Amino acid sequence: MCQIRSIILIAMTVFLLSCQQADVDTHETRFMMGTLVSFTVTHADKTLAKKAIRKAAEEMQRVESIFTIYGDQPNDIKAFNQSPINTGIHFTPEISKLLKTALMIERQSLGSFNPKLALLNKLWGFSQTIAVEHPPSQQAIEKYLHGTQRCLQQQAKQWFRSTSNCQLDFGAIAKGYAIDRGIAVLRQYDIQNAMINAGGDMRLIGKHGSKDWRIGIRDPRHKDEIIATLSLHGDVSIVTSGDYERYFMYQGQRYHHILEPKTGWVSRHSQSTTVIAANAMLADAWSTALFVAGKKGIKLAEKYGLQALIIDSEGHQYTTKDMPINLLSKP
Ligand code: AMP
Ligand code: MG
Repeated sequence: MCQIRSIILIAMTVFLLSCQQADVDTHETRFMMGTLVSFTVTHADKTLAKKAIRKAAEEMQRVESIFTIYGDQPNDIKAFNQSPINTGIHFTPEISKLLKTALMIERQSLGSFNPKLALLNKLWGFSQTIAVEHPPSQQAIEKYLHGTQRCLQQQAKQWFRSTSNCQLDFGAIAKGYAIDRGIAVLRQYDIQNAMINAGGDMRLIGKHGSKDWRIGIRDPRHKDEIIATLSLHGDVSIVTSGDYERYFMYQGQRYHHILEPKTGWVSRHSQSTTVIAANAMLADAWSTALFVAGKKGIKLAEKYGLQALIIDSEGHQYTTKDMPINLLSKP
C-alpha cells in the first residue's frame, strides 16, 4: 500500500510519496537551518545507516554555523558584515567558493538573485524569532537597499565591500550546499540510496528500494494538495522556493521572504518555483532567482541547463521543455 508521508509539518513544500520500505528504510528528522530536515536511507544495515545520518547531520550543522547571519555565535560572514569598508578580508576556500557561485548566479540571473541583502532581509524579519506583522516603511527599505549592487570585489584573494549596506546573506543558497555536503558524507559511509529533504530542498541518490523516489510538488495555495509528481532516481537535486514558506498577511496582501533586489520589496512574480540542477546548491540558488524572475525565468533556466517549473502569481504553470514532471492540472 502506498502512503503519503508528509515530510515537513508547516512550511511543507514537497512530499515524499513513498511506498512502505519499512524493512530497509532508516528515516530520521532533525531541526536545523530553520526547518525540519529529513533523512531517508535505504540500506540493509540499519546501524550503519543511523551512523551515516548522524555524521551527515553534523556536517550540515557545521555548514549552517559557518554561513548563518543569525544567532549569537561569531563566524566569518558576520565578521565580514561588520568589517570596515574597503578593507580586505580573507575567507576560507569554502566560503570564497560559495560566494563566487552566488555572485555568478547574480550575474546570470540578471540581478534577480542578490546575496548582499542581509540588512534588508533582517529588516523584513522573516528569519527572526519574533513574528513580523507588517511591512517596513519605504524610507527604511530605501535606506538599506542603497549600495547593495556591485559593492563586492575580490582582489589578491581578499574580499572587499565598498558600502556599509553591502552585507552577505547566504539564506538562498547555503541550505542547498549543506544538503550536498550531507549527501557527500552519506556516500563516505557507502550509502548509495538516500534522500535528504530540508523543507523542500532535496537531493536524492540511487533508488527507493526497487522503485524510483516519488516526489510531490505542493500546491502553493492549498497546503495539503499536490499539483505535480515526479519519479526520480540516480543523483537528482530538486529545490522549491515558495511564497507560503515564511509570510504574513497585511491588509489583504501576502508578504513573504523572497525579495526583489531592485526595489527591496517582496517579489510578486511567482507563487513557487521548482528547479532541478546538477547539485542542491545550484538548485537552491536558482529556485530563488527564478522565483524573482517569474515566468520569463523559463528562458534563463533553459539557457543555463536547468529544469524548472514556475508557478506565476496567477497560478499559471510554466515548465522547461525537459522538466520530468507529471502535472496534475492543466498549465
Ligand atoms: P529560498 O527560501 O531558498 O528561496 O531563500 C530565501 C532566503 O534568501 C530569504 O530568507 C533571504 O534570506 C534570502 N533572499 C531573499 N530574497 C533573495 C534574493 N532575491 N536573492 C538572494 N537571496 C534572497
Ligand atoms: Mg533558494
